[in-house]
Amino acid sequence: MSTEKNIPYKIYLEENEMPTQWYNVRADMKNKPAPLLNPGTLKPMTFEELRPVFCDELVRQELDNDTAYFDIPQEIQDFYKMYRPSPLVRAYFLEKALDTPAKIYYKFEGNNTSGSHKLNSAIAQAYYAKKQGLTGVTTETGAGQWGTALSMACSYFDLDCKVYMVKVSYEQKPFRREVMRTYGASVTPSPSETTEVGRRILAEHPGTSGSLGCAISEAVEAATSLDGYRYVLGSVLSQVLLHQSIIGLETKAALDKYDIKADIVIGCAGGGSNLGGLISPFVGQKIKGEADYRIIAVEPASCPSLTRGRYAYDFCDTGMICPLAKMYTLGSGFIPSANHAGGLRYHGMSSVVSQLYDDKLIEAVSVEQTEVFAAAEQFARVEGILPAPESSHAIRVAIDEALKCKETGEEKTIVFGLTGTGYFDMVAYGKYNDGEMTDYIPTDADLEPGFAGLPNVD
Ligand SMILES: *Cc1c(COP(=O)(O)O)cnc(C)c1O
Repeated sequence: MSTEKNIPYKIYLEENEMPTQWYNVRADMKNKPAPLLNPGTLKPMTFEELRPVFCDELVRQELDNDTAYFDIPQEIQDFYKMYRPSPLVRAYFLEKALDTPAKIYYKFEGNNTSGSHKLNSAIAQAYYAKKQGLTGVTTETGAGQWGTALSMACSYFDLDCKVYMVKVSYEQKPFRREVMRTYGASVTPSPSETTEVGRRILAEHPGTSGSLGCAISEAVEAATSLDGYRYVLGSVLSQVLLHQSIIGLETKAALDKYDIKADIVIGCAGGGSNLGGLISPFVGQKIKGEADYRIIAVEPASCPSLTRGRYAYDFCDTGMICPLAKMYTLGSGFIPSANHAGGLRYHGMSSVVSQLYDDKLIEAVSVEQTEVFAAAEQFARVEGILPAPESSHAIRVAIDEALKCKETGEEKTIVFGLTGTGYFDMVAYGKYNDGEMTDYIPTDADLEPGFAGLPNVD
């Protein structure tokens, strides 16, 4: 259309156009996400029961299904200005390479040292811990982005930070570990001898290379047994999705500024935090009947919690010490096959994203890792940014949708979340470049043991 405004390569909001409130999509959901349950009583977790684990304000945010907007404290707004607003990029080069009539945009969250969107929630969680006068926080990290983000946030607020890092990553990603230590965090490979649950898991599975679920158990135990510490989690929880709504709110504001209406919104899904944050304002409009969008969650075929999981109450961790969450899950015992390189390996999914999916407000697709890395390379070569493997799941589907437009001639507007950069994932890129990367899709029989371990909750 000749009336189309001249859209810049990058849309940056002014600092005074940045959101000053987070948006809680739960307030507008007709079917609320199911509550966390106490694994002993199977009753919904109360404020008092969650207080020993999480900071008070974060418990309030976790339990609040009614308040649509939360003010972002000024100190967090100030910190955000160090690396936000993040640009909404028009992928002109990719469109040209694909020769598609589709208009492609991506929201780039990788422009900070942690290399991902995780800093958006890390700084909020550290802030509330500091406000409460705590000494420090504990957490787990897999590939290391969350641990890095939290280390940065803790050093900013002068809090102690103890990170349990999945052992295989601790050994294979020494640089991530050193970034965390540079920001003052202490990093322990998990499972470790430092916790009871770690010792138990090591006794049962000697030589195990660890898992996220196991590192979570250790971090929770450490937090609850140390005075002045709380546990923080980088994804899955509703409070994290709330903080990550900054991604979607900025995206929406940037689109609105140029009268752009998205047709398709795409995000990769591990625990669901970037996806939940990106889509919140869009799905909110969809629920209220104000606009319609196709919203697509993309997950690895090797860890297909939405597309092949069960919607059931499950443990969030391997040690089974956390509350139960109702989510699309492969079972807390599920571990993706050893050749899986691309992150997004958590067995479950945010309860908010799970409910939206169950209500058919969003779709989900799974993709295999070699096609994900092919998309990553294609993107890197034309758009310049070297994407994280996790983010590249979204790139894959954005490219696929743009190629469909090429066939039909439709000029759809596609928006996807580019959650981070892949500089610490060069071992995986190397495998792909050497032609040694393989795909493995679990069989139904592979998934059975995970499902068999689901707790019995009606
Ligand atoms: C952690 C991470 C993800 C996946 O986590 P979600 O909670 O599903 O967003 C995706 N991309 C990057 C770069 C990450 O660091």
